Amino acid sequence: MSKEPIIVHAIIDGKKVETENKLPRENPTHPDEIVGYAPINTKEEAIRAIDAAYNAFKSWAWSDVEDRIARMKRAIQKIKDATPEIAELLSREHGKALYDAEGEIAVSLMWMEFACDHVKNVVTPQEKKHENGRTIITFDPIGVVSAITPWNYPISLSTIKIAPALLTGNTMVLKPSPFAPLAVSRVAEIIADEFPPGVLNLVHGEADVGIELTSNEKVAKIAFTGGTKTAKSIMKAASETIKKMTLELGGNDAAIVLEDFDVNDERALRRMVISNFLTAGQICMIAKRVYVHRSIYKEFVEKYIEAANKWIRVGDPFNPDVTVGPVNNKNQVKYVQSLIEDAKSKGAEVIKLGKIISPDLMENGYFLQPTLVLGADYHDPIVAEEQFGPTVPILPFDDEEQVIALHNESIYGLTSSVWGEVEHAIKVARRIEAGTTMINTAAIQGLDVRFPFGGVKQSGVGREYGEEGLKSYTETHVINIPKNLDLPYIPE
Ligand code: NAD
Repeated sequence: MSKEPIIVHAIIDGKKVETENKLPRENPTHPDEIVGYAPINTKEEAIRAIDAAYNAFKSWAWSDVEDRIARMKRAIQKIKDATPEIAELLSREHGKALYDAEGEIAVSLMWMEFACDHVKNVVTPQEKKHENGRTIITFDPIGVVSAITPWNYPISLSTIKIAPALLTGNTMVLKPSPFAPLAVSRVAEIIADEFPPGVLNLVHGEADVGIELTSNEKVAKIAFTGGTKTAKSIMKAASETIKKMTLELGGNDAAIVLEDFDVNDERALRRMVISNFLTAGQICMIAKRVYVHRSIYKEFVEKYIEAANKWIRVGDPFNPDVTVGPVNNKNQVKYVQSLIEDAKSKGAEVIKLGKIISPDLMENGYFLQPTLVLGADYHDPIVAEEQFGPTVPILPFDDEEQVIALHNESIYGLTSSVWGEVEHAIKVARRIEAGTTMINTAAIQGLDVRFPFGGVKQSGVGREYGEEGLKSYTETHVINIPKNLDLPYIPE
């Protein structure tokens, strides 16, 4: 379905900005088709956006929380109304199947609604009376937030930042990824329109814009989702002015299948397959390595292949039979292929999974048929690195001590999952080093926006979602009014 390319703009101080240099975004299903153009903003434009956010903060910080909620609710309704159009655009620029794009918008809205319903719990000042007078505690906005987001879930990973930041009285400059800049810009435009000029600004571009957003002294907080390597340069850039930070980074999430997992449970096997291959495996919290107890390993693999062949249907994201679309970009295809080739060269068996629904698209589009890798070594790159694509290694383990050690030796710790008898699985989960561990499900299927989400170790700093996610956009301010004004131990 080729259409006229759409053009999105930067938004600075409530105005759309015309930009000379534009970056085309191709359709990963038909790379010859340009879906649209996003501006390549300059460092100067990034500075103007930061200045606009800085000036808007002066009054927005003192705005009434009821007014902020009302504005956000109007934006939510408009995004709901525009969902079919936005989902279609997201699917075309990203490559994810249409149901997956709609799902991303639904999760984003669910979170925005939660944020509206819970912000008062977080920002309402507390007053405590005690034996030494009284103390008032307020939860104040931090200032200008730079939000920098990746391509894999551009809308949900932007709204996860926009909603709490604006509702708690901060202002923002958002910079989405050039690999999926269009649909998220529509969402940002809708939200920005409901707020005073300068409260939400949008710029696009490459690392130079990112560097300005992370080093400019007027920026008080960085909310970043992306790769761990990028986060390291961001931390350095931000260190000069000691910015607050929430970092949601890479992961190498493991699924641990215990000996009491029921290999005949078809729904569980389907959930496992989805947790490996949804969005063609391009999710930070996809299960990227599966460890199965040796006593059930052979049978598990057989049943897994059956379940995978049923659920995985690769092809045109707009074909309703398709569950897995193309990979988002050429570099990612090459990277995943290199991991598979490396595993093959070391003797691993690579098994193709699923059906090809649109064979005519395979050659030109950025498609990779999903694969299962058996017989890899525990420390091969296909197991030890984040693949971020449609391939998964399954490996046997002998006992729990071994699998917990294998899990925890990773530099990452975003999410994980344990599959088996529930109480047994919980016991193993308690020993896992990760921000979230799901029982008998994994990835987005086990995500709950009401509770904090984030990584340990090099998977991140801080938490998004839940009231903790809202609170991360506030500074606690204590106003003490003591009765005893003089300290008894200080001599006259
Ligand atoms: P990336 O780190 O390459 O890019 C993320 C964003 O940072 C983009 O907008 C990019 O333009 C910008 N950027 C690049 N260099 C910069 C710099 N020097 N300073 C400031 N900004 C800069 O990540 P990606 O390839 O877009 O996304 C994939 C990665 O994101 C994976 O590692 C994945 O695990 C991770 N991710 C994590 C989560 C999570 O919640 N933990 C969620 C989704 C994706």
